[in-house]
Amino acid sequence: MNENLLKQCQEKLREELAHTRASFVLDLKANTNPVILALAELLENTAPSDWIDSINEKICPSQFPNYQRLVQLEAALCQIDIGQFGFCCDCEQEIEDSLLIKDPATQRCSQCCPVVVIKEI
Ligand SMILES: [Zn+2]
Repeated sequence: MNENLLKQCQEKLREELAHTRASFVLDLKANTNPVILALAELLENTAPSDWIDSINEKICPSQFPNYQRLVQLEAALCQIDIGQFGFCCDCEQEIEDSLLIKDPATQRCSQCCPVVVIKEI
């Protein structure tokens, strides 16, 4: 992958991460469950990089799409840091540039992505 694309992806991921964090806290605050509300308060006093550890199993991720996205975004940024960004988590081939431009948090190449895979039985 070229440096430019990598930088572009990193910037997009950081930007989206900031938005997603803000939306996620709003989601929590809109909840009526006292446990969730307490968590919102806790997160506001916690460094965002420690959020995922603090949240650890306190919520059901499927109820909070913004949380699921946040985990994806942080994973992708972490992959950039360790030089593993842009590789498919199934076949370990490079993910197509066009897919990364569309969504830098993509974890699978077009061959492995469930949306485009057509199984021959
Ligand atoms: Zn793949």
